[in-house]
Amino acid sequence: MTTETRTKYETVIGLEVHIQLKTRSKMFCGCDREYFDAEPNTHVCPVCLGMPGTLPVINEEAVASTLLAGLALGCTLPAYAKFDRKNYPYPDLMKGYQISQFDQPFCLDGELEIEVDGVRRAVHLERIHLEEDTARLMHRDNGIETYSLMDVNRAGSPLMELVTKPDMHSAAEAGAFLRTLRQVMRYLRIADADMEKGGMRCDANVSLRPIGQAELGRKVEVKNMNSFRSVQRAIEFEIERQTRMLDANERIVQETRGYVDATGETVSQRSKEEASDYRYFPEPDLPPVHVSPDTIEALRARLPELPTARRARFESQYELSADEARHLTESRADGDAFEEAVRLAGSEHARPVAHWFAGEVARHLNGVGGEAELQDTKVTAQHIGDLVRLVAGNAITAATAKDVLDVAFETGELPEAIVDARGLRQVTDAGAIDEVAQKAIAANPKAVEDYRAGKQAAIGFLVGQVMREMKGRADANAAAETIRRHLDAS
Ligand code: ADP
Ligand code: ZN
Ligand code: MG
Repeated sequence: MTTETRTKYETVIGLEVHIQLKTRSKMFCGCDREYFDAEPNTHVCPVCLGMPGTLPVINEEAVASTLLAGLALGCTLPAYAKFDRKNYPYPDLMKGYQISQFDQPFCLDGELEIEVDGVRRAVHLERIHLEEDTARLMHRDNGIETYSLMDVNRAGSPLMELVTKPDMHSAAEAGAFLRTLRQVMRYLRIADADMEKGGMRCDANVSLRPIGQAELGRKVEVKNMNSFRSVQRAIEFEIERQTRMLDANERIVQETRGYVDATGETVSQRSKEEASDYRYFPEPDLPPVHVSPDTIEALRARLPELPTARRARFESQYELSADEARHLTESRADGDAFEEAVRLAGSEHARPVAHWFAGEVARHLNGVGGEAELQDTKVTAQHIGDLVRLVAGNAITAATAKDVLDVAFETGELPEAIVDARGLRQVTDAGAIDEVAQKAIAANPKAVEDYRAGKQAAIGFLVGQVMREMKGRADANAAAETIRRHLDAS
């Protein structure tokens, strides 16, 4: 793409995001919702199998989760909401219709603040509604014929659908939106929102319009992305494809396209003209839901401090850099651990605590891989708090502290216990340091010569020798002073 075409059109993106809620039971029956490792078709009952004559019952926890999400995202929560039937025939749809919400969803409007390249902006939402998930089809090929197997475990699981306004303008913004949304869902503890596991699924609507044109261009809806990366790649592919078409004066057809991960391309699935008419009508088996002011206030009291607010507070209260604050608020549990460690170490040590979290702790967590959090390891806030206190009180050196932390990650022992059991206390004994310093000077005439020639760095080298001899336990400042005193004296 040339710079000229890049600047000729504006990209417009709206996302439709499905998020599986982490409730105990399913949306309209008592079946256990947690089926991830279960045998197929073991978490089922007549209701979620869609048997005639069964009646759905609304899962209050799912409603509360949806309202909580609405509050966190600044939505309007209408006093009345209702469920509707969305009719379409598909093998994974047990009843021939899906219970969803049409014109009276739980949440309207709202926004989510994202940050791209250091610039923050709000992405506006259209609505959030609640519905039930479908069963899962698994397509098989045994070499003779192809066939499909069905697992009903997922059917009837609560699914929250969030629809944004056509309010994003680049693949990067869409990616940031999804990442931030996942973070908020996790802070609220209502969903894990893992795209790779199907816990968060996203359709991207993409259109282009000539810059300056008020009217939106004709959109294409892209499905089948199962990672943040694939959403961004699919959007980028669409931007290029639509740009080429518009440049060639071709008409963009409103259609649904599927993303093919192997090639990074999107392919046509069906045009909008063939789209089904869902014949929505109010679900006759469920009463409308009244959302009272009391309900809303009770939920508001459950709202945790959200990432953006927490980040700002960490920056001012603990005097952290923007990067440190962002790192420490990435997950709610890690932020909690940081604050607990600060409480234990003393608030005057907040910055060193932050450094340990951003440095050594992060290094260990990366080593574990994936998205490990402190709570997945044997190390707790107390370990970090104690460690920082030991270093600040000169009981151990920073070098020793790293080793202590390594042991703690292995065994879970507390720092004091590790230090005592292994005799790691810092040597501040001037006599002991003096002896080793003199030996280091005698063994390194070159460094001594360098120092006399004016190279201050030679001191650092000699301190390193003392540290090595004393297994990192010498008080580095004392060692440097001692060495300098000897060199300057002779
Ligand atoms: P549909 O009737 O095709 O479902 P909606 O108006 O309900 O379309 O919007 C569905 C999603 O598509 C929303 O996220 C919305 O923001 C987005 N959208 C609508 N029009 C456009 C457009 N012209 N370009 C990009 N996204 C759009
Ligand atoms: Zn069931
Ligand atoms: Mg729509």
